[in-house]
Amino acid sequence: MIRCTKCGTQNNDDDRFCCKCGQKLQSERRPPSSKQAGEVRFLEKLSIVNLLAGRAMLKKCLETWIYCLAVLFAALYSVFSRSWLPLVLGVAVVGLVAWLRKI
Ligand SMILES: [Zn+2]
Repeated sequence: MIRCTKCGTQNNDDDRFCCKCGQKLQSERRPPSSKQAGEVRFLEKLSIVNLLAGRAMLKKCLETWIYCLAVLFAALYSVFSRSWLPLVLGVAVVGLVAWLRKI
């Protein structure tokens, strides 16, 4: 039932005007205005973009860590094998890959 805002008469849900005074009835189940819907959509889009950017950032961060660890392992291997070749090669390869991946 919809109560008329002017005279208080109860009207049927699907009535558009009050049966007693003719006042235009406003349904309580109003859909959100287009402006609000637009804002919601914009915020949703923003959060998705943020999420994607965050994921890309995380991935890049993780990749950088992997490269750092690779260099570290190359350095450790160099120390143990008493040869600078693995370190030099490791740094060169990791540096090249990181540069190619634009990190
Ligand atoms: Zn009325």
